[in-house]
Amino acid sequence: MVLSGIIASPVLKANPHLRRVVIWISVIVLDKYIPESVLAIYAHPDDCEVACGGTLSHWGENGSQIAVAVLTSGDKGTSSPDVETNDLIETRRNEMESSAEILGIKKRVLFDHPDGSLRLDVAGLEESIVKLIRQERPDTVVCPDPSALFYGQRYINHRDHRVTGELVVDACSYGASSPKYFPDAGVSHTVKNLFLSASLEPDVGVDISNTLAKKVQALKSHTSQVGNSLEWLEDSVRIRAEEAGKEVGVLYAELFRKFYLA
Ligand SMILES: [Zn+2]
Repeated sequence: MVLSGIIASPVLKANPHLRRVVIWISVIVLDKYIPESVLAIYAHPDDCEVACGGTLSHWGENGSQIAVAVLTSGDKGTSSPDVETNDLIETRRNEMESSAEILGIKKRVLFDHPDGSLRLDVAGLEESIVKLIRQERPDTVVCPDPSALFYGQRYINHRDHRVTGELVVDACSYGASSPKYFPDAGVSHTVKNLFLSASLEPDVGVDISNTLAKKVQALKSHTSQVGNSLEWLEDSVRIRAEEAGKEVGVLYAELFRKFYLA
């Protein structure tokens, strides 16, 4: 906590070498920063709950304005070939709405690209993300870490997650902040803090001890994804948060790789 303040201090900002040393020594620090406004950008309807639901709820409870953008409609999020696509889209929209209410998300922006279709060169996609950041003007952006591909031997990161992360990272540095990039996409805006979730190289943790229950509740709203027998869900979310909490000396946490962009 104290270290995260030191890392963000003007002295270390002016001395990148010293700052790198401090970050290296500190490894993962507790981050008590409360943003004024947050924009979380994710690929699928339930991604932000999994990745940062406890953090968004914690920030919202402490006064942050929270907006979430979801790039796809989640129209392939089923293991049953018989599910009607439009019904699934509708179901997932309703699930998002319930979840947003639980987490205190004030605004949702749905891009409705087809699930699995995200690529870096989809026409207009990069510009639409820049435009959204310039419209919302958040001081903090949260998105997936685009560099994470393999998690152990059991999970390969979905391409939609990686593409979303890469586009958002590029939009934060420098698409949205430089007026010469996308001049027709609104007035330039500099994002101060960028949090990358599900990173293989986390360096900060946010205390979600008071909001873990809400994260679990929000995830339970996504019945089409998690089913109705939910004991496993509660246990797995808690165990992961507990492991993360140990890294930063709190009961439950979510970990991120953080960039101080301004
Ligand atoms: Zn996803």
